[in-house]
Amino acid sequence: MNTSELAINGGTPVRTELLPYSRPLVEDEDKKAVQEVLSSGWLTTGPKVEEFEKAFASFVGTEYAVAVNSGTAALHATMSALGITKGDDVIVPTMTFAATANAVVYQGGTPVFVDSDAGTLLIDPTKVEEAITDKTKAIIAVDYAGQPCDYDALQAIAKKHQVKLIADACHALGATDGGRTVGSLADISTFSFHAVKPLATGEGGMITTNDKHLADHMKQFRNHGINSDHHERHKTGSWFYRMDFLGFNYRLPDILCALGVEQLKHVPNWTARRQEIAELYDKSFAEIDGVTPLGKRPGATHAYHLYVVNVDGLSASRTDIFDALRAEGIGANVHYIPVHLHPFYQEHFGTKEHQFPNAENAYEHILSLPIFADMTNEDTADTVKAVEKVCAAYR
Ligand SMILES: *Cc1c(COP(=O)(O)O)cnc(C)c1O
Repeated sequence: MNTSELAINGGTPVRTELLPYSRPLVEDEDKKAVQEVLSSGWLTTGPKVEEFEKAFASFVGTEYAVAVNSGTAALHATMSALGITKGDDVIVPTMTFAATANAVVYQGGTPVFVDSDAGTLLIDPTKVEEAITDKTKAIIAVDYAGQPCDYDALQAIAKKHQVKLIADACHALGATDGGRTVGSLADISTFSFHAVKPLATGEGGMITTNDKHLADHMKQFRNHGINSDHHERHKTGSWFYRMDFLGFNYRLPDILCALGVEQLKHVPNWTARRQEIAELYDKSFAEIDGVTPLGKRPGATHAYHLYVVNVDGLSASRTDIFDALRAEGIGANVHYIPVHLHPFYQEHFGTKEHQFPNAENAYEHILSLPIFADMTNEDTADTVKAVEKVCAAYR
């Protein structure tokens, strides 16, 4: 095949309408639940918050869940609950979204970056242990793309060095490891309900834990550090409240909690559909030279927030392949620019290029291909067709 047939060079595209890499799905019953709460008199701090928290805790199998208004707020509340402050180090993978590391910085702590496994792009437990010092207070593991990290290995390291283990599970709602549900695998787990995430309320987040003390702190943290919220005072008929420490307004409104309650019910089916699409992709890409899906951990199930491939051995760069796929109507994306390469971290924390070879090498080669719950088999076939076409042209 000839490069002149590519859409980017004026050829006919595989699709005329761009297939996005992700898209939220809101079902009719989800809309109805939002309609109902709009007439309930409680738009925020009402009964839907607790209902969503209870349902979520029960879904992941923890004692407590605390709703907040973003995944970033969930990470920030976690850092506050663990008492992270100036002089404390928190280990984070560089292959993640910036928010994971930013949460440490909000509290005055220092994110200590570590590299990922080249095959799975999950944080490498050996590198984690090497990075631990007297200043280390916690480890944040990121379930990159939706695949849980090796929490048995990480938990053993955390126990041995007496540091807390946090799962940034923003990609992984619905996944399991060794039969246990994501959300219950670390001391604290955080989730995001941003529009592209496995459960979408537009913006939103959740924190899960079995530790009552931590859960109580995080509830107070999301409400300015105040010891009771409007709903609790309404129930007891009291006006008095006390601000014990500096918190934020990180509350998730009842409107979004109502949407969350309904979305959560869809998660098992939606996850199964993503896994089905991933399996179709895996089979097809095994036959195409130039693209290789990321590695999988044995014993774990994958939530496939992202479907990531490595692009290699072609006469064009990943960026050229990205542009060519876009022209074919396939909305590829790149997750992520390693956090230590961002100017903010280079300026303030002295991070440098060539520090983390696996993450940096991956960054040159990865592409996220479209995957979402209501993607059809035709959409999936279009992606495969476009990848095949573009790879063939640059082989
Ligand atoms: C989305 C995401 C966040 C931040 O969540 P928001 O809800 O957008 O604030 C944090 N960590 C990871 C890994 C994410 O993917």
